[in-house]
Amino acid sequence: MNRLENWQRVTKGEPFDLIIIGGGATGAGAAWDAASRGLKVALFEANDFAEGTSSRSTKLVHGGVRYLQNGQVDLVREALRERGNLVNQAPDFVEPLAFLVPAYRWYERFFYGVGLTLYDFLAGKLGIKKTEHWGRQKATDAFPTLRERGLRGGTLYWDAQFDDARLVIALIKKASDAGACAINHCRVTELLKDAGRCVGVEICDEHSGERAHVSAKVVVNCTGVFSDEVRAKDRPGTDRIILSSRGSHIVLDQKFLPGSRAIMIPKTDDGRVLFAIPWKNRLVVGTTDIGEAPITVTPKASEEEVAYLLDHAARYLNEKPSRADVKATFAGLRPLVRPADSKGSSAQVSRTHHIEVSSSQLITIAGGKWTTFRQMAEDVIDRAVEVGGFGEAGPCQTLGETIVEAQEQVSAEFIHPDLPYSWRDVERAVRDEMALTLADVLSRRLRCTFLDEAASIEIAPEVARRMAEWTGKGEEWIAAELDRFSQFIDS
Ligand SMILES: Cc1cc2nc3c(=O)[nH]c(=O)nc-3n(C[C@H](O)[C@H](O)[C@H](O)COP(=O)(O)OP(=O)(O)OC[C@H]3O[C@@H](n4cnc5c(N)ncnc54)[C@H](O)[C@@H]3O)c2cc1C
Repeated sequence: MNRLENWQRVTKGEPFDLIIIGGGATGAGAAWDAASRGLKVALFEANDFAEGTSSRSTKLVHGGVRYLQNGQVDLVREALRERGNLVNQAPDFVEPLAFLVPAYRWYERFFYGVGLTLYDFLAGKLGIKKTEHWGRQKATDAFPTLRERGLRGGTLYWDAQFDDARLVIALIKKASDAGACAINHCRVTELLKDAGRCVGVEICDEHSGERAHVSAKVVVNCTGVFSDEVRAKDRPGTDRIILSSRGSHIVLDQKFLPGSRAIMIPKTDDGRVLFAIPWKNRLVVGTTDIGEAPITVTPKASEEEVAYLLDHAARYLNEKPSRADVKATFAGLRPLVRPADSKGSSAQVSRTHHIEVSSSQLITIAGGKWTTFRQMAEDVIDRAVEVGGFGEAGPCQTLGETIVEAQEQVSAEFIHPDLPYSWRDVERAVRDEMALTLADVLSRRLRCTFLDEAASIEIAPEVARRMAEWTGKGEEWIAAELDRFSQFIDS
């Protein structure tokens, strides 16, 4: 992953079969899939890899228990299959996680017990572990901070969790190893047409302002909630297909729910599910669902959402967390596919993915879930092979292919007593993983801002100083970067 070399590849006119717009889960997965079939691929990401929704998820690789309640059995079966594949393919990133659904009413143990047994059944051979039916004593022993009053026991089921942004970086590495040319902070500003067909893109390096034209036989739009912006460049005035819905999270000290198991609250006031999940020695609580949320790369949790999450967490915990206990908040925008009748709640909108080929042959993939990125990539690249007439490209190669994290064996000094990262992690981000800005390092290569905003602000000047030293930048760059980082934290 070398940004300068990749910029030279595209500006020297290297021919590509495929251009992928967007470097989130969908784009990175598609680049990996296409490159591993032998296609020549370029990927352009306007911001940082995973800076959009793909670093802002609830960090679950899951079948989606709640979609079963909506009767979306095919979606759940597909997600459970991909969940099982990912646990096997990417064990460095994806870890099985047990969830308790606590029961406070007599019928809940029975009701959720039946639903979750069906969930196990749908997972089949790719299931993680069997659902268990727990009595009150077992639940309070395992979850000593769970509200005891009225507790009748619960149902323990299995899904998995992961580090979303790091998996995107790993996918970009896999794609790069297979020959793909991926560039972050590089926006697609125009689509190039020839005889009505989309034959390339104009790109702009967001750091230098330099522009270039890049040609390819097929262009694939993987821009999540920004899909309609790119579709409008193809066909101005076209109908919108995206319904964006904001989901917010709060991050608390893990003392509120110690241990390695999570809790799933199956029904909140507004009919959603709520998770409280241990993640990197913190507790992530989420999420909300605010339909028709404004589209931006840096959505923010509102104070109402924070209050809602604190209120719901407090209902199930012995010690009630307050606003002062919130170490960080983060929000993301779901790129849902707008149903013909979009009057209902966005929580009810299907999470299945949708592929569209326009009259100029621009391919757009929208919707879906992080968990199903591999299947989405396979489907969209199958379509690109058809559209581009890439007869020489074989079938999808990604199923069963391992995805590994570069493990550092050397012990190194931690960057901050409250953050689980070393200076070696920072150096690797800058030298090997295309991190250009403080936020690239502290938000997506390392997950500091997601875990602890105050600690991230404390450590930022020293991180900026070392980044400048490694990249030959001066005092001016450090000052500008710290300023930009503080605006990022505020937003
Ligand atoms: C709150 C929340 C919680 C979620 N939790 C889960 C979960 O636990 N498990 C799960 O499976 N799924 C979850 N999801 C869904 C999942 O996160 C998304 O489906 C997935 O991340 C979408 O990825 P994407 O690549 O399509 O979009 P994005 O990650 O948004 O990527 C699109 C990229 O395109 C780039 N872009 C836009 N315009 C341009 C341009 N002109 N040129 C170049 N690049 C451009 C953007 O900068 C962006 O990085 C959650 C979603 C939300 C919002």
